[in-house]
Amino acid sequence: MSDELSNYFSERQGRLLADLRELVEHESPSLDAAATTALTTALARRLESHGAAVRLYPTASGSHLMARATFGHPSQAAPVMLLGHVDTVWPRGTLARRGFRVADGRAYGPGVFDMKSGVALMVAALEAIPDLGLQPPHPLKILLTCDEESGSTTSRQLIESEAAECAAVLVLEPSLPGGAAKTERKGFAIYEIVVHGVAAHAGLDPDKGVSATTELAHQLLALQRLEDRAAGVSVNAGVIRGGTSPNVVAAEARAEVDVRFRTLSQAAEIARRIEALTPVLDGARLEIRGGINRPPLERTAGVSALFEQARAVAADLGFDLGEGSSGGASDGNLTAALGVPTLDGLGVEGDGAHAEHEHILLADLPRRAALLTALLTRLGVCLGSAWLLSADRGLRLAGSF
Ligand SMILES: [Zn+2]
Repeated sequence: MSDELSNYFSERQGRLLADLRELVEHESPSLDAAATTALTTALARRLESHGAAVRLYPTASGSHLMARATFGHPSQAAPVMLLGHVDTVWPRGTLARRGFRVADGRAYGPGVFDMKSGVALMVAALEAIPDLGLQPPHPLKILLTCDEESGSTTSRQLIESEAAECAAVLVLEPSLPGGAAKTERKGFAIYEIVVHGVAAHAGLDPDKGVSATTELAHQLLALQRLEDRAAGVSVNAGVIRGGTSPNVVAAEARAEVDVRFRTLSQAAEIARRIEALTPVLDGARLEIRGGINRPPLERTAGVSALFEQARAVAADLGFDLGEGSSGGASDGNLTAALGVPTLDGLGVEGDGAHAEHEHILLADLPRRAALLTALLTRLGVCLGSAWLLSADRGLRLAGSF
């Protein structure tokens, strides 16, 4: 099967690139509901033409797309979900300044790496499966959202409810440098710490004041002591504000704090310690708001088993698939936190997410399409983390080869 798949996608490299170009040239800034909806609507038509049942979910951020495909063989098995987003961080007009172009074996353009090429892979796999007469053992879901780059506010509930019944989630977000998949992503919490002091004239009545800015300085150092970089816990008070004038003892000061962690137990521990912060100065008062924004994608047994399957499929296709961790979060964090085995970073190799030099490596495009297609037809997952299927059985299922 591996050679057949490799040949199939090598022959279709031009088509893959044309599809990618079309996706990139359809600008879709996050929170531009008209633009993202136009793109999911176009994709809905495309996926329907390949036999998927598609539903659009209109929201203030645009219409999220949910597609289901059984390839003519309704199955009671739990579905496998392909998860991604159509929105980008690039404002309208970026294309006019920095359009899609191909040079030196790379394709450049806004969103090409994060993650229009991942969307192109999903479409390619959905087409290839019936084209090649393959029969995945699980029904397939494709969920494409419009607001991942702006915090998944309107899609989170849909992602969680659709993923909850799935056997596994494959996230087509960009791969790590060198093309490695992401088997671990940190989670993060955001806190705002507001310090209330007492205002006073700095010259006339300094003893009557309680300095909120001084108190905040104590708290910033206390926050720093909560860090455990070796264990993957970082705390960053990235924004501080406070006071009104040099001659006034500050009545108020505040900090915005980003906390990153690898495990939910780390998250719970650091939340407990932040909420237990107490003022150092007499008369100062702390107000602490916020909490976990994204749970971590932990490298559970289910995640590593899923990765091992992907690695075996890649080896059959003639390449090494590595794994690694990322300090950034994706919607894969949400599905992993439900306990659904989630493998992230299955997108095309490239570089420069959210940066001007964003690009993908063209040679990796057909290879990744083959990897995704083969993985879908050989995935041995079921609810309860019983891993049924070996590569051998996958080859038998794909009997036409
Ligand atoms: Zn992304």
